[in-house]
Parts: sequence; structure tokens; C-alpha cells
Amino acid sequence: MNCKEALPLIHEYLDGDLQGSDSQRLKEHLISCQACHALFRQLEKTDAMVRMLPPVRVSDTLTAQIMSGLPPVKKRNSWMVFIRRHPAVSVAVVFATVMFGSFMSMWNDDTNLMVKGSNLQDVVIEGDTVTVPQGHTVKGDLVVQRGKLKVEGEVTGNLTVIDGSLNLASTAHISGHVTQVNEALSWVWYKVGEYVGMFSH
Ligand SMILES: [Zn+2]
Repeated sequence: MNCKEALPLIHEYLDGDLQGSDSQRLKEHLISCQACHALFRQLEKTDAMVRMLPPVRVSDTLTAQIMSGLPPVKKRNSWMVFIRRHPAVSVAVVFATVMFGSFMSMWNDDTNLMVKGSNLQDVVIEGDTVTVPQGHTVKGDLVVQRGKLKVEGEVTGNLTVIDGSLNLASTAHISGHVTQVNEALSWVWYKVGEYVGMFSH
């Protein structure tokens, strides 16, 4: 197994959906690959952290809203199958969280770059550099992890850069907050904040 195949399996494993031979193959890869092992540990910790939080009281209406936002199970699985059958695709589009079907993230397995946002068609990704070109608008939030973010255009939501660099051109316009996170610990707190914020919208 290579790293491109391992990534979706890690997500499936943390979702509790991974069994049998896939699980065995993932274990073997994690033993032999330090990068994936580190990523796995980080995701696992974040996952555990979020699970440890006290239950949030959610109204029935909100639950219904969240549930209706879930991608159908079949659709989600076919994405996983697509990614697994096309390991040559170096930028794989996967659903970031189960909560928001429309919130997508893009992974570049070669550089470990991750880009998350609800509106990614106006973002240009080259290697580990993510550019919002001049004259383009990203509607909503944008999160870039382990990459170089260059903004020449507009972002209508919040901008978050994790373990990366940020370059705002004079033409850049960010309507929300700009946050840079660089330590593993603050990343966990950022995730916790994201989780809590999710229910307060
Ligand atoms: Zn690997």
C-alpha cells in the first residue's frame, strides 16, 4: 500500500468503518511509514479529544438540520471507492466531516497539504502553494494546513493557516478573522473550538 491509498483508509478507520483485509493492510503501512503514522496519531488524538467533550444538548430541529446535511451513505462510500481505484490522482477530494456534506477538503498526498472550504473552485493549488487569484472570491471559510497560502483575491469568511505560511497581497480582502496556528496543541484547541462552534451557529 502507498500513502495515497492509506489516507482514505485512515479516515474510514477513525469513522469505525474499516474491517478485514483493509484494516490489516493499513496497519502494515502505518508500521512502515512514519509520515502516515504521525498523521494517524494526530487525527486519532483530535478524534479522541472531540469525543471526550461533554455532550452538547442539541435541539431536535438542529439534529434534523444536521442529519439532512449528511451525505447519503452510498454516495460517501462511492467516493471512497473512487479514491481507492484512482490512487494516481494526487489531489483527492474527500468529505472533511460527517457533519457537513458540502464542506469539502482536498488533500495533496505528496506534500501532505490540506485545503478545506465550502467553496474551493476559485482556489488554485500547485504543489504546496494555494492561491486565491486576484479577481476571484472564495465564499465562506478557508483553511490551509501544511502549505503556503497566497491571497490576491477575496475571502468572505474566516481564514485559517495551520503549520504553514500566509502571504496577503495588497489586493487581498478578508472579511472574517485571520488565524495562524502553528503548534500541535493549539491545533487541538482549534479543532475543539471548531466543534463547539459547529453547534452554536
Ligand atoms: Zn504512508
